[in-house]
Amino acid sequence: LYTDHDLREGEAVPAAPGQGRYLGAVMRKKEGDEILLFNGRDGEWKARVASIRKDEATFMPESPRRAQTPLAGPVLLMAALKREAMEWVVEKATELGVRAIHPVLTTRAVPDRVNRARLSLIAREAAEQCERLDVPDVAEAVPLYTALGAWDGTPLVVAAERREAVPLAALPPGPMPSLLIGPEGGFTGPELDALARHPFVAMVSLGPRILRAETAAVSALAVLQATRGD
Ligand code: SAM
Repeated sequence: LYTDHDLREGEAVPAAPGQGRYLGAVMRKKEGDEILLFNGRDGEWKARVASIRKDEATFMPESPRRAQTPLAGPVLLMAALKREAMEWVVEKATELGVRAIHPVLTTRAVPDRVNRARLSLIAREAAEQCERLDVPDVAEAVPLYTALGAWDGTPLVVAAERREAVPLAALPPGPMPSLLIGPEGGFTGPELDALARHPFVAMVSLGPRILRAETAAVSALAVLQATRGD
C-alpha cells in the first residue's frame, strides 16, 4: 500500500482515503494483520494494521523489507490525449518503468490541460500493482516549445511516422534517452521541423503502420526496456 508518510519503525501512519475500506471490505484485513507499505522514498516495509474501522485505519511500520530502488528508466514526454487514453498511458508507462511523465501540449493535442492529481494517483496505483517501489512523477503539462526550450540537452527520441526515421531498436547504444510521443492528430510540419533542428533529437520509427498514440507510447517503452534498460 502506498502512503505519503515517512516510514519509521514504531511510528504509526494513517491510511489514505479509501485504503481502510479496501483493506477491510475487499482484503478482509483485521487489526494485527500484516500489510506492506511503501512511499517511494523509504523502501518497502512490513507493517501491521493497528486499527481499522470503516474507512479509518492506521498502520504500524515494523521492519524494512526491500531497499528503495533508485529512479531509473526513461522520461516520457506524452502529448496530451483524451482522458481515458492518457490515464491508460500513465498506467502502462509506470508498469514499463518510466522515471517521470511530462504531458506536453502540442498544436493538435485534443485536450489543452490534463488532470495532474488524477494521473499521479494512477501512477501510484500502478506502482503498487506492479510492485515497483519508486513512483514516477507526473509533471504539469507544458507547451511542447516550452519543454524544448528548457531541455537539458540529454538525448530525446521522437516517435515520428516518417519514412526516413530509423527504427527505435536500431539506434546506436548509449544511455537511456527520453521519449516524445505525438498526439492523435500527429505533430504539425513546423513542430517536426523545430524538433529536427535540435542536435539532441533523434527521430525514430516504430514500424510501417500508424499506431494510436497510446500504442506508440507502450510499444516504444517496451523497445527501450528490451534494448537498454530494465
Ligand atoms: N495523425 C497522424 C497521421 O495520420 O499521420 C498519426 C499520429 S499517431 C496516431 C500518434 C503519434 O504516435 C505520432 O505523433 C507518433 O509520435 C506516434 N506514432 C504512431 N505510429 C508511429 C510509427 N509507425 N512510427 C513512429 N511513431 C509513431
